[in-house]
Amino acid sequence: MEETFLYADDLGPEKVIEIYDPSVSLKAILVVDNVAAGPSIGGLRMATDVSKEECFRLARAMTLKNAMAGLPHGGGKSVLFGDPTMPAEDKERLVRAFAYAVKDVHDYITGPDMGTNEALMACVKDMNGRAVGLPREIGGIPLDEIGATGFGLSVALQVAQRYSDLYLDGGAVVVQGFGSVGQHAARYLAEQGARLVGVSDSQGARAAADGFDIDALMAHKQAGGSVADFNAGTSIAPEDLIAVECDVWIPAARPDVITQANAPRMHTRVVAQGANIPASAAAEKILAERGILVIPDFVANAGGVICAAVEYHQGNETLAMATIEEKIHSNVAAVLARVADTGALPRTVALEIARERVRRAMEFRHTH
Ligand code: NAD
Repeated sequence: MEETFLYADDLGPEKVIEIYDPSVSLKAILVVDNVAAGPSIGGLRMATDVSKEECFRLARAMTLKNAMAGLPHGGGKSVLFGDPTMPAEDKERLVRAFAYAVKDVHDYITGPDMGTNEALMACVKDMNGRAVGLPREIGGIPLDEIGATGFGLSVALQVAQRYSDLYLDGGAVVVQGFGSVGQHAARYLAEQGARLVGVSDSQGARAAADGFDIDALMAHKQAGGSVADFNAGTSIAPEDLIAVECDVWIPAARPDVITQANAPRMHTRVVAQGANIPASAAAEKILAERGILVIPDFVANAGGVICAAVEYHQGNETLAMATIEEKIHSNVAAVLARVADTGALPRTVALEIARERVRRAMEFRHTH
């Protein structure tokens, strides 16, 4: 009994469902954290080492991200115990069994996450009618292909110009993790006149004070190359990317990359968090003390989930981009204006705003 309610607080979780079907070796957990604003949206993660605690934390992060983004959706998350590299037909069988098992949980809409993809979301939709991040052929908007999150980051940074000494036109950008988020962020920022002066992927890091040719680097990556073997700039140690002098530093790879130890080495005006939880609380405090503005992950990287919500409501790509622009613009402005007024840390302010929104949505609900 105790364990079940271990993570409960004033916002949730509303439901924690354990799913077990030995006939297909299915073991999964679904946490519907809060549905005051509308049915929850959150990814289905598949890994061998997932846990109930991880599922709850991710579900709560979705409640806050969706509230911050101003979406008519609450937060949820599901985890499926299994090796994501298993044969495709076994994986499809498991995901279909999961989707069937949650078919009556109408307030949970499944999205892709680590270990799942668009094609598997099509299977979920086929089984229970509720999934986002679908293939284009069945009404999906390919958010990584169009760069929904990268575009959102560029909008966040346009707003940041009003609240800091940042100028994107002529500004220098560093991107850690030149994948879907990183590539499109760099591309959209180049449209604002910025240049990419430092970049990395899992194979290595490079710097070029005059800026990289972003289209050429994207083509090189698409052709199977890596940042390490790109034929421009100079190779640097991956751990030195943190110290490359720039105006904007974008983490777009792994969690926990900006730490108490390396935050003092950063030479940037703004950190725009593309990756989820890329910095520790202590690191964010150091950055604030050094006058570096941080735009927190669940404010800056909401482009993907906003796109997914537009897809769910039958909107098209044009509407998705317009919605990302409008929502990220107003939400970043709301956070940064309050930061300017109060001097509080951006994450503290963003959490306050998101929690306020969830609580207000809860007041509109029928009480039993
Ligand atoms: P991706 O797999 O397309 O790209 C990740 C990139 O990071 C790859 O180029 C990889 O080589 C690189 N990388 C991996 N380890 C690295 C390391 N140690 N150092 C430097 N580079 C490294 O993934 P993505 O979709 O671009 O997502 C990136 C991050 O953004 C993740 O943390 C993800 O959770 C977060 N995020 C993504 C979206 C989205 O819309 N895709 C939305 C919100 C948050």
